[in-house]
Amino acid sequence: MGNPKHIALLGSTGSIGRSSLEVIARLPDRFRVRYLTAHRNIDLLARQIRHFRPRAVVVHEQESASLIRTLIDGNTDVLVGEEGLCEVVTRDDVDTVLSSLVGFAGLRPTYAAVEAGKDIALANKETLVVGGAIIMPKARERGVRILPVDSEHSAILQCLQGEDLDSVARLTLTASGGPFRERNATELAAVTKEEALNHPTWRMGQKITVDSATLMNKGLEVIEAFWLFGLPPEKIEVVIHPQSIIHSMVEFVDGSMKAQLGIPDMKIPIQYALTYPERLPAPYARVDFSTLGEMTFFQPDTEKFRCLPLAYEALRAGGSAPTVLNAANEVAVSMFLEERIPLTAIPDVIQNALASHRSTPAPTLDDLVRIDRDTRESVLQQHIVPG
Ligand code: MG
Repeated sequence: MGNPKHIALLGSTGSIGRSSLEVIARLPDRFRVRYLTAHRNIDLLARQIRHFRPRAVVVHEQESASLIRTLIDGNTDVLVGEEGLCEVVTRDDVDTVLSSLVGFAGLRPTYAAVEAGKDIALANKETLVVGGAIIMPKARERGVRILPVDSEHSAILQCLQGEDLDSVARLTLTASGGPFRERNATELAAVTKEEALNHPTWRMGQKITVDSATLMNKGLEVIEAFWLFGLPPEKIEVVIHPQSIIHSMVEFVDGSMKAQLGIPDMKIPIQYALTYPERLPAPYARVDFSTLGEMTFFQPDTEKFRCLPLAYEALRAGGSAPTVLNAANEVAVSMFLEERIPLTAIPDVIQNALASHRSTPAPTLDDLVRIDRDTRESVLQQHIVPG
């Protein structure tokens, strides 16, 4: 065992952030929490500060900064906004950045961390979806590892241990299918926010839970797998596996397949990303084949769940298209959560945004930021509620 890893945890009050701190708290010899960041859950952040004693925290806005200062002692500095995020991830006393920010907001801080030579444990898939073409070459140049926290990509990474990427024939990402797998198109149009937020196998944040219900989450994961493992889109397929026990599979050129199995608990892939390539004992529940019963598999219904083929389309188009896909999806999900559009309108919003976008072939980071902003604005413009 080497020295403890010094961690900056971005998004510490979200679902992945809280699970990560549970993993870290169980392995006190392995990790030091140097920095925590939160959006608006200031009470929880204050409790985390008292427990983990980070050197600084970053909050989303000035108001939250003033509030948190009244709740903690003076040993933890308080920084604000994207600037604060980009600063703490580059500090010398950090060697691993665990990014569990939500959506596009993860792009700049993750890029800054990679540029500063920090290893990344990545739970924020949108960062690779929009910025894979910039982040991955920079990671190679700086010699840093991008280790997936996403359970499917962790599964693939585990299956690839000891294997040559050239011997891979195909990746199969499993999907639970979400809560609406068996609804017909009419029923799907009528689902409520509450139903969409009730995922059958995983407990997660709101954005990813809605993405799971539309299968956009799997579409984003296809793009994420493309960047992490460098296989072309036609070699990355999706299969519905409602039990969520097989987390993904790799088929090799000789026809052999490897799968990684486990109970659906994000603490397992989080721990693997933080201790990679080592495996350490963990106390979580185990798969019990005597009670599991059956594991089933289905083709995804891409007529009903159009977000998945739209993601493949954006991946094949390349350039700035995945940024438009992602931005339109983020806005559409917010509008669904505000009960302004039905779930089935989400793919319409994305399709319209992609259709009206002229793709930039090799966007810079600033181009991506501009395209993300423009896409959000134009989607919102088209959905202004008449006063
Ligand atoms: Mg996943």
